[in-house]
Amino acid sequence: MTTTYRLGLLLGDGIGPEIVPVAARALDAGLRAAGAPAVDWIELPLGREAIDTHGRPVPEETLETLKDVDGWLLGPHDSVSYPAPFNAGLNPSGTIRKHFDLFANIRPAKAIAGSSSLNQATDLVIVRENTEGFYADRNTFAGTGEMMPTPDVAIMHGIITRAATERIAHEAFRLAMTRDKHVTIVHKANVLQLTTGLFRDVCREIAAQYPEVRLDDFHIDAATVHLLRRAQEFDVIVTENMFGDILSDLTGEIAGSLGIAPSINSSDQHAMAQASHGSAPDIAGQGKANPIAMILSSTMLLRWLAGKHDDPTLLQAADFVDDAVNRTVAAGTVTPDMGGTATTTSFGDAVVSALDPS
Ligand code: ATP
Ligand code: MG
Repeated sequence: MTTTYRLGLLLGDGIGPEIVPVAARALDAGLRAAGAPAVDWIELPLGREAIDTHGRPVPEETLETLKDVDGWLLGPHDSVSYPAPFNAGLNPSGTIRKHFDLFANIRPAKAIAGSSSLNQATDLVIVRENTEGFYADRNTFAGTGEMMPTPDVAIMHGIITRAATERIAHEAFRLAMTRDKHVTIVHKANVLQLTTGLFRDVCREIAAQYPEVRLDDFHIDAATVHLLRRAQEFDVIVTENMFGDILSDLTGEIAGSLGIAPSINSSDQHAMAQASHGSAPDIAGQGKANPIAMILSSTMLLRWLAGKHDDPTLLQAADFVDDAVNRTVAAGTVTPDMGGTATTTSFGDAVVSALDPS
């Protein structure tokens, strides 16, 4: 297998330009160590910088190029700080998710040995439906999920469709087949009976196609309690957009911290690696940012690519990089959010030398 993969590099705002290059370097080193072909990195304008250079945060040519690459790394965005009108509406990440219909937001929560976590045995994945539910900026229904008929009344509506639920359910069950074969549906069908009830019922229907997978379900409120008490008993959690957003912050924190929580957003054609955290403007430019979430998001992208192209060298590279991160943390090299003194760059250097001892 000698394909050269082309990956987009979108640095983002705040700590993005610090953590994204570290993740790219770690990937390069992992690919070298695995004897996999090198990646062609294509840096593209997006976010604050693109407003200055291209007059808008999401230039058309960036979207055009992303259409043809094999995947991309996306740094976080701080769109509320953009000049008007770019500070309102969909942020760059939301625009890209919507443009490419990246319907599956996969958010693993796995404790790293040697890091502080609430539950060291946590090893689960949230599979969050990314295109509908109760979030205004992603709803397809009437283009928005919120309206104000008078200045004193605000209305929110949500949408759940069979089609979107079926595709996210398949994603969850397929993932569970590669793990502990256990899927938990999270909903609120006792109150939001029609919407989250449909979500639950369609997931149950799809479950019939995966008879080896053990299935259970919880209301969202009960799920938070069970996760806090016994996160180690969960494997794959499938849920709608807003519940997934909230639950994945909880599980990220149970597993360690925001700075280590990775994610990818994917469809069948495209995938985007994106740390779960934001642009952290409070620590930007100080070399304090933890690059782990961005690095682990990038190895998730490699695994997605490995599956798509049936290329085992990519899987090997991803395993090498994850292992190098674990060894670096175990050796006590961690950034200040994890109680250490490493900088973003020195952490990255340590990971690269763990992969590349020469
Ligand atoms: P957004 O709405 O963009 O998600 P947010 O309000 O959730 O933003 P974050 O940018 O995620 O906020 O930051 C929350 C806190 O976590 C901040 O104090 C920030 O410094 C810290 N933080 C976030 N990411 C990291 C990281 N990679 N390394 C260290 N600290 C981080
Ligand atoms: Mg946030």
